[in-house]
Amino acid sequence: MIALKGSVITSKEIIKDGVVVIDGAKIAYVGPMGTPCGDTNAKCAQSPQGVPNMEIIDCRGKFISPGFIDLHVQGAGGCDILDGNYEAVNTISKALAANGVTAFLATTVYFVGAGPCARPSQGNHRGLPLHLAAVAQAIRKGTQGARVLGVHLEGPFINPLKCGMIKKENIAQTMGTLCGGTNVKYARPPQGVPDIDAIIDACGGALKMMTIAPEMPGAIEIIKQLKKNKIVAAIGHTNATYDETIKGFDAGITHATHVFNAMRSLHHREPGAVGAVLTDDRVSVQLIADGKHLHPAVVGLVIKQKDYERTALITDSMSAAGLPDGRYVYNDLKYESNAGLAVYFGTDTFIGTALTLNKIVKRVVAMGKANLQQAVLMASIVPARVLGIDNRKGSIVKGKDADIVVIDKDCDVSMTIIDGKILKK
Ligand SMILES: [Zn+2]
Repeated sequence: MIALKGSVITSKEIIKDGVVVIDGAKIAYVGPMGTPCGDTNAKCAQSPQGVPNMEIIDCRGKFISPGFIDLHVQGAGGCDILDGNYEAVNTISKALAANGVTAFLATTVYFVGAGPCARPSQGNHRGLPLHLAAVAQAIRKGTQGARVLGVHLEGPFINPLKCGMIKKENIAQTMGTLCGGTNVKYARPPQGVPDIDAIIDACGGALKMMTIAPEMPGAIEIIKQLKKNKIVAAIGHTNATYDETIKGFDAGITHATHVFNAMRSLHHREPGAVGAVLTDDRVSVQLIADGKHLHPAVVGLVIKQKDYERTALITDSMSAAGLPDGRYVYNDLKYESNAGLAVYFGTDTFIGTALTLNKIVKRVVAMGKANLQQAVLMASIVPARVLGIDNRKGSIVKGKDADIVVIDKDCDVSMTIIDGKILKK
């Protein structure tokens, strides 16, 4: 057993002189120091020193926080999900864990593994996209760092007008085919509805979220199918009007991918996707609160409107996350990482950040848009709730997974604990 002493960040408050006891992979107790834990077998009572084999870790002066959960990670530590192998996913997981992230959604684009738009190396022997197979393998086998919670696919059913950094060949065309109609494997031409089942299959059970544009032909049916399969349908990369967006919510959309970014914006006579997302309580949002993708005033606006309860901080991190500024490559295209921002080389197109989630938490606090406890909630319990795993992850509560990070007031990480195992000390 391990007992951590320090300021404990819970969903309600910060317990200044608190203690968290970890028994195996679970949290056994959380509360103030020097009070009984109320547990009938009283293993963790008044003085943890009295319990045999109890390792006491003194974190006084620091914060004991729930581990961060990032719903939008494309890469980190020099690797990208698109690298398409287990080692890359494992490297990403280690880079994230070193920065306080204990679980994440591997976020990437879709392409047909053995289709004409894929490089020959991109499909495995069954024609499944290697990058999706690699994530499924990382979930099965486990990783040495942050837990892989599943795949988040941005596309292929998104609007090319709002593609951002997503290439044309990663976007389904209106007739439901990829690569401009040359591959019909994933199409149902009579109805013009792309075959979502094939994509769900290709992810080997790992697909947990899909970003979709509800205005595209066939999208409403796909949203319903995602809902049926318990996959979070998230609006994003969309040019939907307000009315089209509401239809998407009615069909089952519950979440919005990087709100404001790659999304039809708010106009006072046509509130667009952003207007619908901000005013409909059925929908939670992802927020890239780096101060660059969104002006700090807009960060504040979103948090005020959606509340801390419905705002999930994300990084949208690229391979450069956790590495020095410089030039890197994403999906064959060069980009530049500078002070946490990733921009296509020679352009002003943002493609994500080079930040880890602890840095975003720090920036939100520095902007004055949340205090530390509120910012931590948006990086832990809210994303857990979005995925429906808040019964076991996302907060420091007795019985939940012991996913914990020890941070200082600047959100620098001194220790990461995943499933009760100390990864960084
Ligand atoms: Zn995106």
